[in-house]
This record gives sequence, C-alpha cells and structure tokens, in this order.
Amino acid sequence: MSGRRSFIRIILYTLTVLISLIALSAIMVVWRAPEAEAWLWRFREGHPTLSSVKPTLAAPLRWFDDYYVVGDMGEGAFAIGEPLYGQCNFSYLIVGSRRALLFDTGPGVRDISPVVHALTSLPMEVLPSHLHFDHTGNLHRFDDVALPDLPALHTQVHDGVFSLGLYQSLGFVEGFERRPFRVAHWLQPGSEIDLGGRRLQLLNVPGHTPESVVLVDRGANRVYAGDFIYPSDIYAFLPGANLADYAASARRVDAIVDEQTKFHGAHGCDRPPLVDVPTLSQVDVRALGVALTLAAGTSGPLGSGRFPRVIPVNQRMMLMATYPWMAH
Ligand SMILES: [Zn+2]
Ligand SMILES: [Zn+2]
Repeated sequence: MSGRRSFIRIILYTLTVLISLIALSAIMVVWRAPEAEAWLWRFREGHPTLSSVKPTLAAPLRWFDDYYVVGDMGEGAFAIGEPLYGQCNFSYLIVGSRRALLFDTGPGVRDISPVVHALTSLPMEVLPSHLHFDHTGNLHRFDDVALPDLPALHTQVHDGVFSLGLYQSLGFVEGFERRPFRVAHWLQPGSEIDLGGRRLQLLNVPGHTPESVVLVDRGANRVYAGDFIYPSDIYAFLPGANLADYAASARRVDAIVDEQTKFHGAHGCDRPPLVDVPTLSQVDVRALGVALTLAAGTSGPLGSGRFPRVIPVNQRMMLMATYPWMAH
C-alpha cells in the first residue's frame, strides 16, 4: 500500500513541477514577447535577403559599383543606398569644410569605406543612428566612431571597445555576427556637431530603440532620421522599443521643424521598381505621432495581427507595434 501511495505522490509531484514549468515558460514568453519573436525570426530568415535584379534609380541616385548607389543631395550631403539588400538601407555622408560625418554604415554585406573615401578625403567621424545590425555592420572598419553619451551605453565599453548586446544588434535574425568596435567619442544629446560651415544637432529620440538619434541640419532644413521615420513599415515592437517614448519623441521632433523640413530615413525601396532617397515630411511625423500615441494608450486601436500589432499610419507607413504594457 505504502509503495503505491508514494508512487502516486511522485507522479503528482512530477505533474505539479511540469505544469508549473509550462505556466512559467508561457508567462516568460508573453512577458518577453519581443525577444521571443526575434528569436523565432532566425528560423524564418537566418540570412540576408539579396536581390540580383537591379532596380530603376531616381535622380540623383546612380550606381557606384555593382552593389552600392550614391546620390549627391546638395548641401554637402550624399545618400549611400543598398537597394539590392532586402532592407534597402540608406546611410548619409554629410560633408563640411573641415570634416565629414557618416550617419549609419549599413549591415556590412559589403565594405562601405571605399564609397565614402571616394566622396571625401576630409577627416571623418562615424555615428550610427542606433545599434541594430543593419546600421552598425561596418563600424569596425572606422577609427573615429562616436556614440550618443547615454549612461547605459558606457557600461558596454571595456578598454575602449563596445560590445553589442544580442537583442540590441539582432544580427542573428539574418545571420550577421556581432562585431565589437572602438568608441572614439561620446556626443552629448542636444549638442551640435560642427563640420565647418555645416552644423548638425544631435537629438536622442527613444522609441524604436532607447539609443536612437536623429541629426537636424537647420541650414539645409533636413533631418537625417535613421529608423525614427522612413517610408514603409515602422518597427515599434522589437526588443527595447517603447511606444510612449516613441510618441513623445515624435511630438518633440514635430515641434522643432516646419512644413518644408525633409526627413531622410534609413530604409527605402517602398515604391518598386523605382528606388529614390527615402524622404518624408512633417505631416508624416505628425501622423506617426498620432498613431503611436493611440497605440501607447489603453483605449487606442488594437490593430490587426497578434504580435506585432499592425496599425495603418498613412499611405506610406504602417506601424508595427507592441502592447502598452510591454514597456520595460
Ligand atoms: Zn532599427
Ligand atoms: Zn534599420
């Protein structure tokens, strides 16, 4: 009898442990939905999407080689695009009279340094708009890399070398390695970068990620926007995304620009087969801000889809959002 009783006790004990583990895992997956979703993506993608079909380029873009396109945008700025890469990244080189600044470096499918060295021989500083893999893939090739002076980023530097976090880079989603890079400068958010005859104000715009920045060129009435805003799907559901912060950033940027301001984002190719420099304006920032505010509120639209929620912004953008309670 006692043998049977202890057998039942062991079975009950095992079942309790198993059910608790399953329940705990379910809670963890929901609580860490952005990380869980990103982790699942590696099975769907696992490698960068590359096209061999050359698209049609809109002026001022032209082919630099068989991969990169370059466009002289005037006002000392060059767009450097990667239209054959699935995410169609655009980096921007802004050239002053004394020095130049490269904003973003693409995913590193190809070395970007020959492109920028062909465009300027001035000393060059390199600043990523944020730390996702598709913007940081060539940072290790440059000596003068700057990051926004944010306390959280300092903790990731050891002996001057910055190590990207797994979910900060997300490179594993497309099979990219995390390459450490040397940080030469820390730039104070709100400060101005003087390139000689061209000044860029650095703004920290948390939302897409905590460390996201944009560069405001008041002389040219332009904003180099990184992933803060660009045509097509706006990602506000990846690890580190925060809807309330993103909405506040959109309102803050909207307040310092005017109807003529052009926003040049980091991803294009939303109007195939034509590729042009991704350009949006204040009205788009305002529309994104409204969608983000609604998405961040409890009474906002649920959107379609389970995770991420898909919320239409306007004809050129869709917001891919988390849920408000996921902010952490
Ligand atoms: Zn990003
Ligand atoms: Zn991006």
